Amino acid sequence: MNIQTLSLDPRITVRKPGAPNPEGECVLYWMQRAQRALDNPALDVAVELGNELGKPVVAFLAPVPFHPHANLRHYRFLASGIPDIEEGLSKRNVGFILRTYPDHSLTRFCEQVCPAIVIGDENPLREAEHWRVRAAQDLKVPLWTVDADVVVPSRLLGKEHYGARTIRPRLQALLPQFLVPTKVVKARIPWNKPRTLHSLSAHDDFTAGWPLDRSVSPIEGWHGGTKNALRMLNDFVNYGLRDYPKDRNHPELSRTSRISPYLHFGHIGPLTIAHAVQAASAPAAAKQAFLEQFIVRRELSVNFVRYNSYYDSFECLEPWADRSFARHSGDRRPILYDEKQLEQAETHDPLWNAAQKQMVLTGWMHNYMRMYWAKKILEWSPSVASAYQRAVWLNDRYELDGRDPNGYAGIAWAIVGKHDRPWFERPVFGQVRYMSLASTGRKFDSKSYIAQIGNLERAHV
Ligand SMILES: Cc1cc2nc3c(=O)[nH]c(=O)nc-3n(C[C@H](O)[C@H](O)[C@H](O)COP(=O)(O)OP(=O)(O)OC[C@H]3O[C@@H](n4cnc5c(N)ncnc54)[C@H](O)[C@@H]3O)c2cc1C
Repeated sequence: MNIQTLSLDPRITVRKPGAPNPEGECVLYWMQRAQRALDNPALDVAVELGNELGKPVVAFLAPVPFHPHANLRHYRFLASGIPDIEEGLSKRNVGFILRTYPDHSLTRFCEQVCPAIVIGDENPLREAEHWRVRAAQDLKVPLWTVDADVVVPSRLLGKEHYGARTIRPRLQALLPQFLVPTKVVKARIPWNKPRTLHSLSAHDDFTAGWPLDRSVSPIEGWHGGTKNALRMLNDFVNYGLRDYPKDRNHPELSRTSRISPYLHFGHIGPLTIAHAVQAASAPAAAKQAFLEQFIVRRELSVNFVRYNSYYDSFECLEPWADRSFARHSGDRRPILYDEKQLEQAETHDPLWNAAQKQMVLTGWMHNYMRMYWAKKILEWSPSVASAYQRAVWLNDRYELDGRDPNGYAGIAWAIVGKHDRPWFERPVFGQVRYMSLASTGRKFDSKSYIAQIGNLERAHV
């Protein structure tokens, strides 16, 4: 495929147009979100271009301590994925350069390796988007970015969708074009520049000396990386998928895939997961239930963050929710907790406390509990605005998969009714859907869940 035709691929956004520099010595892949060597459309585009231009390909990964709410827990998980990236890229003849803060400058790296063109991946969060806009201004060669972490390129959806009901038919119409097998292509010209271009080994603790929040401990039981992600996927497809529709709302069973941290850090690609689920021997209804969450709900979240600039504040709400909250702004809130009490799981509600502890101790909370958890934060906070801000802060701080479009969409769903519909009017919540301790606790074996978290807590002491 020639370069002109390739640039028209709907997954690609041409950020800085122009012909690749004929004097360039390589094609540079600026790896940001898609931290993997397999099922990575951005890397595939870089390799295809390298082969077309007859140049080697090098991937540049430069972790920095500036991601809002990121702390030691997140960076440790990121770091544990690096050896798999290095190994996978080497199998594809692609070079790998890891540079870390304060030696993270893309433009400085370009001066050293002289690329013909730079390819990046996409991330709808505002800070990452800002870095790409800056890069397009600063680079002297073309910059393309590739939407590598969704099945259907998010820009094809064009605008913010109201909910699953409106986005589902659009996604389903586009799936035959994008949910297709891909080939693993190797770079024809191997990268053979001296290793001295590495400023670090993949195994070093690159956060040493960083101005970083170290108050949230890393999670010993979670190890990042593509190999671990594939193992989790395999286990889920063989043992969990069959009963997904029945078990997915049972926090005490914990039989969902738990693949979200790997997706968040880009250690596994969405096509790999969707293909594995489609090929599984599980009943069709189970596959459909999983793909509804994994494609429709997940890509609805990406759509929300990409097209609603208020995604991390209550102002992202729909007009019906705004009107409804205005009617209830003076409602009495009989129980109020401050941030510290919430963070330390010191509420009167044993189910909520268990959920909060699951997140703090394990870096992950079950979906059903996430819904309940956020709704109670609304009930126990002085205002909708403060509830939203507290939920974002706690979620981003403790969840390994936090700081993700899914997190903002989940919080928006629970607190301001985003992607939901108006329900019956009630105090504080207005028309936003309510969840009570009594009814939530009856839907699954909540005693068993609370007991499991209690055991976990004792094991941590
Ligand atoms: C208040 C709240 C906060 C949340 N915070 C986050 C977050 O920070 N990061 C995050 O990745 N998810 C978040 N979610 C969405 C969902 O709870 C998690 O993605 C899911 O629990 C992860 O577990 P799993 O991988 O076992 O999911 P599975 O059920 O096995 O699903 C597989 C994948 O599909 C996607 N998915 C599943 N359910 C949803 C959903 N409801 N919405 C969007 N995508 C979904 C996820 O990528 C998930 O990893 C939040 C939801 C709520 C209500």
